Amino acid sequence: MLNVPSQSFPAPSSQQRVASGGRSKVPLKQGRSLMDWIRLTKSGKDLTGLKGRLIEVTEEELKKHNQKDDCWICIRGFVYNVTPYMEYHPGGEDELMRAAGSDGTDLFDQVHRWVNYESMLKECVVGRMAVKSAVPKDYREEKKVLNGMLPKSQVTDTLAKEGRSSPSYDWFQTDSIVTIVIYTKQKDINLDSVIVDHQDDSFRAETLIKDYSYIIHIELSHEIEEDFSVRVVENVGKIEIVLKKKESTSWKHLGHPLENHNSLIPKKDTGLYYRKCRLISKEGVTHDTKLFCLMLPPSTHLQVPVGQHVYLKLTITGTEIVKPYTPVSDSLPSEFKEPVLLNNKYIFFLIKIYPAGLFTPELDQLQIAGTGFTPMVKILNFALTNIPSLRKVKLMFFNKTEDDIIWRSQLEKLAFKDKRFDVEFVLSAPTSEWNGKRGHISPALLSEFLKRSSDNSKVLICICGPTPFTEQGIRLLHDRNFSKEEIHSFTA
Ligand code: FAD
Ligand code: NAP
Repeated sequence: MLNVPSQSFPAPSSQQRVASGGRSKVPLKQGRSLMDWIRLTKSGKDLTGLKGRLIEVTEEELKKHNQKDDCWICIRGFVYNVTPYMEYHPGGEDELMRAAGSDGTDLFDQVHRWVNYESMLKECVVGRMAVKSAVPKDYREEKKVLNGMLPKSQVTDTLAKEGRSSPSYDWFQTDSIVTIVIYTKQKDINLDSVIVDHQDDSFRAETLIKDYSYIIHIELSHEIEEDFSVRVVENVGKIEIVLKKKESTSWKHLGHPLENHNSLIPKKDTGLYYRKCRLISKEGVTHDTKLFCLMLPPSTHLQVPVGQHVYLKLTITGTEIVKPYTPVSDSLPSEFKEPVLLNNKYIFFLIKIYPAGLFTPELDQLQIAGTGFTPMVKILNFALTNIPSLRKVKLMFFNKTEDDIIWRSQLEKLAFKDKRFDVEFVLSAPTSEWNGKRGHISPALLSEFLKRSSDNSKVLICICGPTPFTEQGIRLLHDRNFSKEEIHSFTA
């Protein structure tokens, strides 16, 4: 799971900032590591002193618990008894005591907003803050409300003071596409500035404008295809997101607004948003450091700006653990270095594995979700660039649906540009609109595609995929008189 923090570099709350307000760590006693804390939370011990009961906490009650041996802290409306956590806090007891008996939301956000305290402190929850009945008279009073969020009015005021006009958006459609246009009214906007996520009906586009985020967040009125394109007209700061309609009906409206739709809010208040990524490859670089390649979901547009870090999240023995990592450039040695085939779906990390660490051994244990296509990338690249006598390279790519095809547009572009390369997509569960080839690997499909140009032409056939697929493929190739030497299968 991956999240990208704020656009400014380093982010105000980033660990990369070492200046005042930054984060310092203290040496912890033996047996007080995060893993030890997780073990304690799983031990069934009553950590709140309330035997699992949840209570409503008044401000007066909260204030009473302000000692090291009796310390309650409120974060975003929830109160935690952090007394048992004192010795485990990497920032030290004194740092935690700064928020003792009070609302620690602002302090928490300043120091390490990305830490998943909900998961780490879930056994310490005492209850919710009692809702105050008094209506705040002005902003100063409103800020005291224990929810950790700034009121919207303050954002508008700040913008007005800076003389900045708010972004806006519009949309238009043809039979097949819907285009959402965001007018940022800024000149320094590029593809890094916009993050788009589409999950089920929910469409979310976050445009980063200095320390603010302009959010489009809509439950779309009609279904769209998984993939979409994003274009930026830099000189006028216009962003166009082109969505493909699933059905060519006319949309009467774009959809229903969801949380924060059409609003400009400080980046720090947008919340963390994680995407499920696939581990595509893992290569040893030194004895303890590996190059990891993660693939973003097809329904995400995200480019991590140079030098920025992201947060990776894993659930380790039932607790969500988050650690920051800095993506490295994709030009480092890897199977995916070929620029023609690269799109922005891949993020690379150089990560040192600490055998006694908490996060990295777990990351290292993750199974590669490699696809049968993975080894073909390097072969394709090698054949097209290093074999002068090469006449033809053909790729027959079997998938379930169009959405499963990795690098489709890049492969099509490559076939268009390089006459020597042909690609054929074969789908086992296509939609009715699919005009291409259908089915599983079969004699009919192979005989159409695999033809010798002459009896003595040299051929190498590489095959990779699930074992039954590969085995069946090899049998069919033998039936078609391709010799053992002409077939290379990628099997374990
Ligand atoms: P940890 O559990 O933190 O342990 C690391 C080591 O410290 C182990 O040897 C462990 O035994 C020891 N240790 C842990 N607790 C104690 C203790 N109390 N006393 C003594 N020893 C202790 N890392 C990368 O590899 N690549 C990156 O690109 C990268 N980018 C980063 C970017 C930023 C902005 C930051 C702040 C960090 C970055 N890191 C990066 C570091 C990364 O976030 C993790 O800290 C690192 O991967 C170790 O995590 P871990 O949970 O495996 O190890
Ligand atoms: P995939 O997309 O799930 O399947 C590829 C094609 O094989 C699909 O068309 C699929 O049809 C078909 N298929 C599945 N089971 C079949 C069967 N029993 N008979 C005939 N066809 C069948 O798989 P992938 O992601 O390409 O590859 C995953 C496999 O490749 C894993 O086993 C992995 O270990 C292996 N792999 C090996 C290497 C290596 O270097 N050795 C590298 C990467 C991956 P449906 O879609 O209809 O199921």
